[in-house]
Amino acid sequence: MGYSGMEERHINPEDMTGLEKTLKKMHGKLAEDMKKLGAELKDTAFGEARDILTQKEDIETLEAEDEMEEKEIHLIEEALQRMAQGTYGICLDCGEKIAIERLKALPYARYCIRCEDAREKRPYKMDGRIPD
Ligand SMILES: [Zn+2]
Repeated sequence: MGYSGMEERHINPEDMTGLEKTLKKMHGKLAEDMKKLGAELKDTAFGEARDILTQKEDIETLEAEDEMEEKEIHLIEEALQRMAQGTYGICLDCGEKIAIERLKALPYARYCIRCEDAREKRPYKMDGRIPD
């Protein structure tokens, strides 16, 4: 007990309110984007037949975009759920608090920077190479 100097600052209720607002705004924007994407996808898929290959590519691009946004929306919803449950800002991997700077940059972060780093570097460990 009593280690306070080195500890990263964690979120306070004020930060939480701000982050919740940010998350809800992001969610609203993504939902809007997805609606547009859905309409675009329909137009592309059922619109006038052009070059079938181009059409196929367009649909794939739109679908990939749609998938990415869907994933992001899901992450945002999860973050809002964790807020409601009082577990927001806690790393899902190691259970440590996630630094406020990280949450401000990425409000739906699920892992602390150390675990995220470890996750990103994991594949490169296979060949034993030490990243620069
Ligand atoms: Zn962690």
